[in-house]
Amino acid sequence: QIVLGIESSCDETAAAVLAADGRILSELVLSQIADHAPWGGVVPEIAARAHLAALPELAREALRQAGVGYANLGAIAATAGPGLIGGLLVGTGFAKGAAIAAGRPYIAINHLEAHALTARLPGLSAAQPQFPYLLLLLSGGHSQCVVVEGVGRYHKLGTTLDDAVGEAFDKTAKLLGLPYPGGPALEALAREGDAHAYPLPRPLLHRPGCDFSFSGLKTAVAQLAAAQGTTALPRPLAANIAASFQAAVTDILADRLANAFARRPDVSAVIIAGGVAANTAIRTRLDTLCAAQGKTLIAPPLRLCTDNAVMVAWAGVERLRAGLTDPLTAPCKPRWPLEDLARDMVR
Ligand code: ATP
Ligand code: MG
Ligand code: FE
Repeated sequence: QIVLGIESSCDETAAAVLAADGRILSELVLSQIADHAPWGGVVPEIAARAHLAALPELAREALRQAGVGYANLGAIAATAGPGLIGGLLVGTGFAKGAAIAAGRPYIAINHLEAHALTARLPGLSAAQPQFPYLLLLLSGGHSQCVVVEGVGRYHKLGTTLDDAVGEAFDKTAKLLGLPYPGGPALEALAREGDAHAYPLPRPLLHRPGCDFSFSGLKTAVAQLAAAQGTTALPRPLAANIAASFQAAVTDILADRLANAFARRPDVSAVIIAGGVAANTAIRTRLDTLCAAQGKTLIAPPLRLCTDNAVMVAWAGVERLRAGLTDPLTAPCKPRWPLEDLARDMVR
């Protein structure tokens, strides 16, 4: 059964078509970064309007590239939450319309579940990871450590107590005078700096549990930058701050992941997802930790780490196989914790 997937929960409009075996027949992503850059962050209403303008043609093109029509689809899957309500309404409204036109089921996808199940996409890792495995979601909107027990079954081990990790990168980058989105720019600058230059705080380090906290780190950087007394930091100094910040985040993430392994020794693999998973320093460190503990780190190619529709279509394939489709009355949920999915299934 061929599945069309639609993603519109934040600032990417995406459509993808997958064969029943998970083969990617087409995948398209339109980033709205340029639309939001002047405001230094995602503006919800601008995002919704951009999704509305782009999605119909994007979906048509995805079907064209896949060589299929609506009549060939087995189901239409769309992200129904969590995310910005305007974009969710556009994406799910479109998907429901397509489901009516095709006479095929609609599937409401939880965006976090889509990130979590990406690891099982055929061909992504040497062997498809078996449940349970860990999801370390590191994006601009989410920082979570979750045990993936099965399709629709998740157990959250920890989450951020304040900023998401990508948000911390973006805010710190802004303090250093880097352009939005700051994560990639900060990583590039950090390469020129000394990670030991400043002993920045590492909130919650060596404490039990898998929760994260980044706001103290960000505040420390703000104070450090302010103490320099100039508006524009000299580049070598900014590079040292960037490298020290990145080292602190890396230490925090490794510490939390080690705690997750201690709590759930039965997991054999970890998948990292979210834009921050693109960070080489973080990837390398987590890879080393996993290798030392006999775990497999699954780091999908970047285009499947950040928001995309392949993961939505794949979650649709998995749900369709499990007989989990949704009525056309299914709502969008701006807030939709993964742990609610199990309850939704027995409903
Ligand atoms: P969500 O998917 O949670 O709704 P989002 O769209 O903001 O949120 P992504 O698109 O997955 O999340 O990731 C974007 C985030 O990743 C931004 O905060 C960005 O700064 C960060 N990021 C991207 N590349 C890097 C990098 N190389 N190093 C650190 N952070 C990065
Ligand atoms: Mg994004
Ligand atoms: Fe995401």
